[in-house]
Amino acid sequence: MAHEAVIGLECHIQLRTRGKMFCGCPAEFGAPPDTNVCPVCLGLPGALPRANRAAVEAALRLGLALGCAIREESVFARKHYFYPDSPKNYQITQYDRPLCAGGSLPVGEAGGERRYDLERLHLEEDTGKSSHPVRAGDRAFSLVDFNRAGVPLLELVTQPVFREPAECAAFLAALRRLVRWLGVSDGDMEKGQLRCDANVSLRPAGAAALGVKTELKNLNSIRGVERGLAAEIARQRLLLEGGGVVGQATLSYDVEHDRLAVMRSKEDAHDYRYFPEPDLPVLRVVGAVLEAARAGLPELPWTRAARLVGRYGLSAHDASVLCEQRELADYYEACAAVADERLAANWVMTEVLRVLHERAGSIGEFAARVPAVRLGGLVARVAAKEIPGPLAKQVFGWMLDEEGGVDELLARHGVRAMGAATDLRPLVLEVLGEHAAAVAQVLAGSSRTLDFLVGQVMKKSRGQAAPQVVRELLETEFARRAAGESPPRAPRGGP
Ligand SMILES: [Zn+2]
Repeated sequence: MAHEAVIGLECHIQLRTRGKMFCGCPAEFGAPPDTNVCPVCLGLPGALPRANRAAVEAALRLGLALGCAIREESVFARKHYFYPDSPKNYQITQYDRPLCAGGSLPVGEAGGERRYDLERLHLEEDTGKSSHPVRAGDRAFSLVDFNRAGVPLLELVTQPVFREPAECAAFLAALRRLVRWLGVSDGDMEKGQLRCDANVSLRPAGAAALGVKTELKNLNSIRGVERGLAAEIARQRLLLEGGGVVGQATLSYDVEHDRLAVMRSKEDAHDYRYFPEPDLPVLRVVGAVLEAARAGLPELPWTRAARLVGRYGLSAHDASVLCEQRELADYYEACAAVADERLAANWVMTEVLRVLHERAGSIGEFAARVPAVRLGGLVARVAAKEIPGPLAKQVFGWMLDEEGGVDELLARHGVRAMGAATDLRPLVLEVLGEHAAAVAQVLAGSSRTLDFLVGQVMKKSRGQAAPQVVRELLETEFARRAAGESPPRAPRGGP
C-alpha cells in the first residue's frame, strides 16, 4: 500500500530586541558566558518578570504580516520541566490563549504562490545553552551558559499542511526572508536565531485520518530539515510496509552522518502542568498599538514581487530574485528609476549579485560604494547604446574600487566610448571603401559577409563601439545603396 507523509512544523524565531523577554539584560549573541544575567533570568526567588514591549510589537508585526487574528487579551503560562539550562525549572510561554491565531504564509514566485495555513504564533522565552566539551584525559562534563536564558522567542506552529520535505525547506526559506524583511529577527539558523521541530506521520494515500506521529527536534539548517524529514519518512515507510507499527517518539537527526536517534519514547512523554503565570498580568493589546503596528508594516515581499512584475514587466522569477531581500528590491527600484527597467534588473541580478557573492558582502555595503543612481547612470548609457556592454562591465569593475561618474572613469583609464552614431559613421564608410568585394557580396544577399563587415568596424574602433549600432549603420548604408543612392563622401554635419 502506498503511503503519504503529513508534516507540521514548529519554528522558533529569536527576536532582534535589545533586551530579554522579561528583564533588562542584553539579548546579544556572543558575549562571554554568564555575563548577560540578572535575578529575573536566573530564576532567583522573589524576582519579578516584566514583558518586553519591543518583543510584543515585533510579534504583532509578524502576526499582522501573516494575516493572523490578534487576540486582544492573551495570557502567559508556565510550562514546567526540569533541565539544567532552564534555571527557573519552568519556561514562561503562552498556552491556551496565544497572542496570534490562524494566518498563512505564501511560498513561491509571484502569481504562483501557495499559502500554507498556520495554527498559532505566540511569545515565549529561550533557555540557556548547554555544551558538552570533550578533552583528552578529562572525565565527561557539561557546561551551561545562561546568556541566552530569557531571550525573546516567537513560536510559530503550522497546520499539518506539508506532504514533501522540499515544501518544508521552501517554507522555512520564505519565513526567514519574511522575518528579515520585517526586521523582527536576523533569522540566522547557524546562530540558532531560527530553529525548527517537525511532526511527521504516514497514512495510506488518500486516507483522512492521521497516522501515529513522531517529532524531529532541533533541526538547525534548511538542509537538515529536508534531509532529516526524508530519513524519518523512509524509516516510517519501511516499518509500515513491513507490517510493523510506528511508535510515538521524539528523535534527533545528525545531518553530518545522516543518522536518526530516538531521544525519548511515549512512555516518558512530558506532562508540563501548564498554568497561568501568576507574576504577569494578562497581555492587553489596545487598538492604538495594533493600528500603529499595522501602519508601520512595509510592503510585504509577495505584494512587492507582484508589483515589480506589473509595473516593470519583469518575469515572476526575476521579481522573486530581486525581492529575496528588502534592501535588494530597494536598490533595484532606485536603479530602475534612472535607467531602463528590464536592463537594470539584469544588471542587478547578474553583476551586483555576483559581486555580493564573490566579496561576501551585504547589499548595504555594496550600495555605500556604488549607490543605485551611479549604477543606474551606467545602465542608462548602455540602454542608449552610448557604451557597449563589454566596456560597461569594465566601467562597473572600476566603480567598485574608484570614485567618479562614468565619463570620469573612462577618461581616467584613457578610454573613449564610441557609441553615438555620429562618431561611428566615418569608420563605417572607411571600412566599406576598403572592402569593395565584400560590399558587392552583401548587396547580393550574403548576411555572413555583413557580420564580417561589422567585425571590421569593431576592430577599427578598438572594441569600443557598440556592435548593435554598427550593424544598424551598415544596414542603413546598404539599404541606401540598394535603392540606388550614391554614398555620401563625408558624414553630414550640423546646419
Ligand atoms: Zn536578566
